[in-house]
Amino acid sequence: MNNDDIWISPEDISDYHVCPRIPFIRFFSGNRRRYRSIDERSRKLRKKFIENDCENVLERTKSEIVMQGQGLQSRVDLLSGEPDYVLGSRAGALYPLILEHSAPERGPVASCLYAYVYLLARCGYRAGRYGYIFCVKDNRLMRVTCDTARVIRAAQSAEAIRDSIMKECMPGPCGNREQCAECFCLRMCGDIF
Ligand code: SF4
Repeated sequence: MNNDDIWISPEDISDYHVCPRIPFIRFFSGNRRRYRSIDERSRKLRKKFIENDCENVLERTKSEIVMQGQGLQSRVDLLSGEPDYVLGSRAGALYPLILEHSAPERGPVASCLYAYVYLLARCGYRAGRYGYIFCVKDNRLMRVTCDTARVIRAAQSAEAIRDSIMKECMPGPCGNREQCAECFCLRMCGDIF
């Protein structure tokens, strides 16, 4: 498979956190994660955020918006994504901000933030040691620590996803039947259970 066809996104890493098989199935079923700027749901969240919450969040985080829907790519890692916003502190560090409608399950979304911190650093920016999730429904701002160990784990997850796709070797199932029952991929890997 041509490397140019395989771009892993931070959202893939979020899926990988839920089950290592999901990004693989998404890739081969043509149901890839899309850049946030072309995702209707994300566009609506951004509109609401800018109209109602942005000023307050910038005040609370003592920062300003330095990137808005800007694509970031690391060709070496085949990692590519677009955080909703990147905030910049007065000291010059950058922090990704991801919008969610309501409070998400923290683990998977945090994995996505770790990957954005990694991507920022790979693109030559001075990435800070945390990122933000903002829940538009209830104005909740979550600050997520993105320390080196977590960021490296996200990079390793990207590598594992990439390898499984390049080798066309589906990762093992998560083994949690309760989770599988809710999973949109069940139809495609359900023969295992
Ligand atoms: S159905 Fe289960 S094993 Fe298959 S992708 Fe979903 S969570 Fe993973």
